[in-house]
Amino acid sequence: MNKQALDLIVIGAGPAGMSAALEARRYGLSVVVLDEQGSPGGQIYRNIRQADARSRGILGDDYAAGAELVAQFLACGARYLANAAIWQVTPQRQVHYLIEGRAEILQGRHVLIASGAFERPMPVPGWTLPGVMSAGAGQILLKSAAMVPDGPLLLAGCGPLLYLLAVQYLRAGIRIEALVDTSGPGDLRRAWRKVPGALRGWRDLLKGLRLLVALKRAGVRHFRAARDLRIEGQAQARALSFDSNGRRWTIPASLVLLHQGVVPNTQVSWSLRLEHDWSEQQLCWVARRDSWGESSLPGVFIAGDGGAIGGVQVARLEGRLAGLAMAARSGKIDARQLLQLATPYRKALRQQRAARPLIDALYRPQQQNRIPDDEVIVCRCEEVSAGEIRRHVALGCLGPNQAKAFGRCGMGPCQGRLCGLSVTEIIAGQRQVPAAEVGYYRIRSPLKPITLAQLASETAHTQEHL
Ligand SMILES: Cc1cc2nc3c(=O)[nH]c(=O)nc-3n(C[C@H](O)[C@H](O)[C@H](O)COP(=O)(O)OP(=O)(O)OC[C@H]3O[C@@H](n4cnc5c(N)ncnc54)[C@H](O)[C@@H]3O)c2cc1C
Repeated sequence: MNKQALDLIVIGAGPAGMSAALEARRYGLSVVVLDEQGSPGGQIYRNIRQADARSRGILGDDYAAGAELVAQFLACGARYLANAAIWQVTPQRQVHYLIEGRAEILQGRHVLIASGAFERPMPVPGWTLPGVMSAGAGQILLKSAAMVPDGPLLLAGCGPLLYLLAVQYLRAGIRIEALVDTSGPGDLRRAWRKVPGALRGWRDLLKGLRLLVALKRAGVRHFRAARDLRIEGQAQARALSFDSNGRRWTIPASLVLLHQGVVPNTQVSWSLRLEHDWSEQQLCWVARRDSWGESSLPGVFIAGDGGAIGGVQVARLEGRLAGLAMAARSGKIDARQLLQLATPYRKALRQQRAARPLIDALYRPQQQNRIPDDEVIVCRCEEVSAGEIRRHVALGCLGPNQAKAFGRCGMGPCQGRLCGLSVTEIIAGQRQVPAAEVGYYRIRSPLKPITLAQLASETAHTQEHL
C-alpha cells in the first residue's frame, strides 16, 4: 500500500460521515472528508453554520442540534474539503473529485461511503409540469436560502419529511391549502403488528405525532388515503385532483410538493460493483455490509442512509462504529478494545432502529405512485414513459440495463437517480418476477459531469499536499 495513502477518506459530511471522522480522529487516523455541499451538515443539518436564529427557530430543535456536531467535527483534526464532488471511486480506494474546477485524486487505505439518501421519486400524472417539485427540494430552498413559496401550496404523498416540512412552513408563516396524504387507515392496520417492537423507539413516534397534532391545530385540511393523484394543468400545475373519502377532489394550487420517503443514494456503491440486495421492507436496493458497515469489498465501508434508511441517530451511530472498526484495522486499538468500545454504540443503535419497521410500514409508498400507468413519464431526462418500458419488456427487455439500449431510459444527466427504482419495479411487474431478479442500472463513472480538459489535467494528491 502506498505510504502516502490516507487512513480514511469519507464521502459525505453528513451526520454519518462527520461521526466516523470524529471517532477515527480520536484514535489518530489521518482523515479527509469530502462533500459537494459548501458547508458540513448533510441533508438534515444543511447550512447550519450560516443559519440565523430565525431560520433555526423555523427549522426546529432537531435542526439546531446539528450545530454542536458540526463544531466538534470542524475541530477534530480531519481535513474537510467543501465543494468537492466525487465523480469516481475505484476498487483500489482511489477517490476522484472535482474542486474549484480542478480534478484531483486521493488514495485511501479505507473509504467510507456516507453519501446519504435522496428522495424516492413520485411519478404521478403531471409530475413533470412546472410548478411541481419534491418536498425535499422545497426544504433545501428553505435551509440554504430561506426561500418559501408565495402562491397556493399543496403537499402530497406520505412520510415524516412531508409532515416536518409542512410544520416548518407553518412556522415561517406560509399558508398551506391542504396536505394530501396517501397513507391511511389501511396502512395503520397493516403496521399495527410492528407496534410492540417499536415502543423502544417511542421518542421518534412521539415526534411524528407532535407534527400531526401541530398541523391539525393550525387547521390545515388533511385528506387521508388519497388515491389516483393527478396534477392538472397544461403548461403549469394549476390544481391537484385525487380520490379521498369516497369522492373526487380538485384543489387549486400553483405549487405542488410531492414526497413519498427517501431511499439510499447507492450511486457510488453500485459503481464499485458492490453486492446489493432488494429490501422488501424499504422497497429499494441496499448494499450488503457487516455489522461494522464493511461492504463486500474489503476496506470500503458504508454508514448512514447511504446503506439503509435509518434516520439521523442511526447514521451517527453507524458512523461511529465504522470509525472504530477502521481504527482497529489501522492497528490503533486491539480486538478486545474494539468490542468494548462498540458496546454502548450497539446498544443505542438497537434502540434507534426499533421504530423503523413501524415507520416503513406506516408510510409505505402506494404501488400506483411507484409503478405508474402507461402514459406517465418515468425517465425525465430522456422522456421515456412507463408504457414504453412495458413495450420494451414485450420485445424481450429483461432489466434496467437493457432498457437503456431499448430506449435510452436512464441515460440522461441524472444517471438514473430519478427513474432507477421505478424502472426496476415496472419491469418486475411486467415480467411478473421479483424486483431482485430484475436488478438495477449498471452505474458507471463519471457520477458527476466532468469536462475532458479537467480529466486531462487530473492531479494526484498526498496528505502532505492537502
Ligand atoms: C432532501 C432531504 C432532506 C432531509 N431532511 C431531513 C430533515 O429535515 N430532518 C431529518 O430528520 N431527516 C432529513 N432527511 C433524512 C436525512 O438525510 C437523514 O436522517 C440523515 O441526514 C442521514 O445522514 P447521512 O450522514 O447518512 O447522510 P446525509 O446527511 O444525506 O449526508 C450525505 C452527504 O453526502 C454528500 N454526497 C453525496 N454524494 C456525493 C458525491 N458524489 N460527492 C460529494 N458529496 C456527496 C451530500 O452532499 C451530503 O452532504 C432528509 C433527507 C433528504 C434526502
